[in-house]
Amino acid sequence: MRRSLSRSFGTLAILVIFGGLLLFTRDRDPVADLGWDDNYWSQVDSFDDDLPAVLPDDITTVQGIRVHIEIADDIDHLLTAARADGLELDGYGYRTNDQQIELRKRHCGTTDFDIFEKRASECSPPTARPGSSRHERGRAIDFRYNGRTIKSRDSEAFVWLAENAIQFGLENLPSEPWHWSVDGR
Ligand SMILES: [Zn+2]
Repeated sequence: MRRSLSRSFGTLAILVIFGGLLLFTRDRDPVADLGWDDNYWSQVDSFDDDLPAVLPDDITTVQGIRVHIEIADDIDHLLTAARADGLELDGYGYRTNDQQIELRKRHCGTTDFDIFEKRASECSPPTARPGSSRHERGRAIDFRYNGRTIKSRDSEAFVWLAENAIQFGLENLPSEPWHWSVDGR
């Protein structure tokens, strides 16, 4: 009796451990694992308040997203097509050079070297050098779905974009599920 009881406890313990491991691994988000996403997004979210009142002539606003006029129709159609398929997308497009410099200070360090020279991949999260971000030309969008940044390739919004965005001229930057631009960079 005692032996079978302790065997049951042993089995239970093993089940709990493996169940816990399974849940733990399933819930892990590859981007969240890097440890910077939430902080990063609160910073980017605050950008809208920092945008200058007057934007460059070649930047326009499409369904709430600021993009270059040359891709405005495509983005308009993409957002409408996504909505027709039941996906409400929004996001952040254009970013000023000053905002890019501010991001570099936060992600790469505060010396001139950190801000202007350090490789993007050495920053956390990776952040393009000022002057070289597609966002600064209104040619990249960080997409959100249901008000949250798309951080996983399992997201139905990512799956939809992976299938459809290319028709509207956007490609994904593989290291960032949320970042889509005219050339995938
Ligand atoms: Zn981006």
